[in-house]
Amino acid sequence: MVPTRDGASTTILADAGGERLAWLLTFLPGRVMASVRPHTPALRAEIGAALGRLDAALAGFEHPALDRELKWNLCRAGWIRPHLGLIQDPRRRTWLDRIVDDFTERVAPRFESLRRGAIFGDANDHNLLVDYDGQGRQRLSGIVDFGDMCHSVVVGEAAVAAAYVMMGQDRPLEAAAELLAAYHGAMPLTDDEQALLFPLVLTRLAVSVVNAAVVSRERPDDPYVTVSEAPAWRLLERLHDCDPRVVEARWRAACGLAAHPGAARVGAWLHGRSGKFAEVLGPDRPAATGQVLDLSFASSIGGNDLDEFDPADCAERIAAQAGAGGTRVGIGRWGEPRPIYSAPAFGGGDDPLAPRRTRHLGVDLFAPAGTLVHAPLAGEVAATGWSSQRFDYGGWALLRHRTDDGVPFATFYGHLARSVFTDLEFGRRIDAGEAFATLGGRPENGDWPPHLHFQLLAAGEEQWGETPDGVADPDDFAACAALYPNPAPLLNLSEAATAWTDTSLEALKSRRAARFVPTLRLSYAEPFRPVRGWRHFLYDAEGRAYLDAYNNVPHVGHCHPKVVAAAESQLRLLNTNTRYLYDGLAELAEHLTAKLPESLSVCFFVNSGSEANELALRLARAHTGARDMLVMDHASHGHTTGAMAISPYKFNRPGGGGAEEWVHVTPVPDTYRGPHRAGDPEAGARYAADVRAVLAAVQGQGRRVAGYIAECLPSVGGQIVPPQGFAETVYRDVRAAGGVCIADDVQTALGRLGATFWGFEYLGVVPDILVLGKPMGNGYPLAAVVTTPAIARSFASGPEFFSTFGGSTVSCAVGIAVQQVLDEEGLQAHAARVGAELLAGLSALAGEFPLIGDVRGTGLFIGVDLVIDRDTRAPATAQAAYMKDRLRERRVLLGTEGPHDNVLKIRPPMTFDSPAAACLLETLADVLAEDPAQPDWPPAAMR
Ligand code: PMP
Repeated sequence: MVPTRDGASTTILADAGGERLAWLLTFLPGRVMASVRPHTPALRAEIGAALGRLDAALAGFEHPALDRELKWNLCRAGWIRPHLGLIQDPRRRTWLDRIVDDFTERVAPRFESLRRGAIFGDANDHNLLVDYDGQGRQRLSGIVDFGDMCHSVVVGEAAVAAAYVMMGQDRPLEAAAELLAAYHGAMPLTDDEQALLFPLVLTRLAVSVVNAAVVSRERPDDPYVTVSEAPAWRLLERLHDCDPRVVEARWRAACGLAAHPGAARVGAWLHGRSGKFAEVLGPDRPAATGQVLDLSFASSIGGNDLDEFDPADCAERIAAQAGAGGTRVGIGRWGEPRPIYSAPAFGGGDDPLAPRRTRHLGVDLFAPAGTLVHAPLAGEVAATGWSSQRFDYGGWALLRHRTDDGVPFATFYGHLARSVFTDLEFGRRIDAGEAFATLGGRPENGDWPPHLHFQLLAAGEEQWGETPDGVADPDDFAACAALYPNPAPLLNLSEAATAWTDTSLEALKSRRAARFVPTLRLSYAEPFRPVRGWRHFLYDAEGRAYLDAYNNVPHVGHCHPKVVAAAESQLRLLNTNTRYLYDGLAELAEHLTAKLPESLSVCFFVNSGSEANELALRLARAHTGARDMLVMDHASHGHTTGAMAISPYKFNRPGGGGAEEWVHVTPVPDTYRGPHRAGDPEAGARYAADVRAVLAAVQGQGRRVAGYIAECLPSVGGQIVPPQGFAETVYRDVRAAGGVCIADDVQTALGRLGATFWGFEYLGVVPDILVLGKPMGNGYPLAAVVTTPAIARSFASGPEFFSTFGGSTVSCAVGIAVQQVLDEEGLQAHAARVGAELLAGLSALAGEFPLIGDVRGTGLFIGVDLVIDRDTRAPATAQAAYMKDRLRERRVLLGTEGPHDNVLKIRPPMTFDSPAAACLLETLADVLAEDPAQPDWPPAAMR
């Protein structure tokens, strides 16, 4: 605040309207944080550190006005109780009742012992100003509106700031952790304050929504009073059933503290005694001789169908592996991410990208039903029960123990038979080695084979009346691991052997770099390592699902069971080559030709698109006796010598070597960026004339043309849809010049375009040579060339055609399965329907976001051309790269394409459905609203 000449902070000014109180503030650069997207971890840390420094500086500051009645002072939050009736929704009302009860009974009484002081108390995203520095980093440039300063518990500052910084975040607890860690660095929080942080966050959210309900009755038209209401409710929805012990552990760990003060002591005590504990399944079944099972996402136990994940199948396989009938125990690992927990049967829910509790927090011991369960050490019964709301344990028991120096901990036993509970009354003493229960059968085990879920509870004794979480979301795992450490020492087992650990990505990257060239590229700034695929989803090792909007090779969906079964059963029987007779070869050819125009009747099966194009070139040359080829600019036909030579996308790139003398480049019929544009009804004819000009020039040099090759809808060229009339005219001209027409339909065949089954069909032409690849084998190497009898005859006079693996017995079985699935599941019509939804949604986004210059495509072959200026159509290459990586962070996978790498490529497996389309559109809309996705990015300060 700038003082007046007299040194006063305010003055009275008179104008026509009367007297006014006036003061002068200096200008702070930046925008309110609410309008800045996304918030970076560094920004959150900076806010935390600034607030910590502020509170440290305010220590000892006193002022009479600090103690006024203020509804936002968390110490006074109890005022909301009489207004809870305003919340009509019964679910929401329940959350608030719980929060307010907890505040009154547990939180408020502890205020007495907490630090108090003057706090700012209102670090919401409308009171924080953010700017970008010259490197594009977000900086906190100011804190405004000190109107809610008050005398309160100091921890209230951090709790309020954490509540707001979490709003609108995908991973709210992580966002808060970043802020709290920095706050703690500047203003260390005590153990008691750490313990109250989460309850106070919930309290602040409750105050916010109740206040909005109260005030909006008084001032229904004032948008500011309800500005945080919707995000606060959304956050409450996410947080209301979070385990406060886990949140506390997580935030403590972020602050560099032991996740739980007592847990480390319990761990050390148990380690010292391991090897001497009584065997939990009895001396006849020592866990140490057990068989460790792989039930992780990287294991195929349970089958590959994640929607119908079959516990019964799982059971058979586990039993087989563990030898469960005998005395050998099967061991299920601690920390293991398991697909079984993401199956709908485990409450997976509708949103496939929602966080899933996939990581196991106990050790499982598989043994026959009825096996006696013994206490590994002396204890007493703390609780028993039947199943639980969150997790079906069958019968369960919790025993309480103490270390020698009195630190309490507990052991949990799940999937017990019901019969044992009669004499397990609360407080009963159990001796070390005493058998106190028996293992339940399949019904008590979620239809899995009988096993004991054994879990160690190293902390949180005040809540030992309930069942602990048996599984954790991967993002919570580190915190949960502190509360529920590996119980291996109690089973006399090695911790290393019983803990699931992930491969190190860094190590994997360097192993790859050591043996491969750098031009073997990885996608994304942060490479992705999926371990499992299912339909249009990919899963990382910890079981996080990613929406696949990009991969067209797994055409009928990743790991389609019918395709898997076809490959598996044929592999068991026979896999030979085309020098022998087998039905599959003819059958696959019949499947394809049944859908093709009559003229395309002779097939060649090979292993890749490159090999198919290579063969197509030979066919063209054999038939015409000419050598020269017309190719389309930016085309990509493969990586072999001949295929490279006809791919300007490759030979025109740095180090690509340029065009051979027999290769002649013709323009891409791009009606968005090229010389002839959409809206010109003659665009197709004009592009065809451009091709004709190249042809004439070639002929003018006295050269003969063997043919013209082009992708039906150019993909790497930028997801281009050629205009009406183009292909027809080019084909006519090429044929008139004695050449043949080759359609590379590798990307666009088999129903992808929705409107037609084949790409050439969409263009209204019939090629002389058709090239098929990628999707034909759903990922199994299988490609084809189909041509006319006349061309085939010209070729047949040459040497033997033989490709060792091409058309092998297994590849034909796979190819047939893919064709059958396409028909049975009606995937072409499905692509047409979902593609139309996507195109409509993307066009709506184009209306909202100037970054989108063009939306084009058909079916599930779509391009979104990003521009920094709609008039000049200057490509937004940097924005496209940002969006691709940012979407990957949001667990949506797509690619960028086009000569300027500015076209978002949407080309998913054909199973991509309406919920997937909605999820993609919603995430795209979020990211399009972010600052680095704006056409005028970077801001002036960074240029
Ligand atoms: N043609 C087109 C249109 C392609 O997109 C590709 C691969 N990107 C190929 C041919 C080469 O196929 P492959 O990688 O199977 O050799």
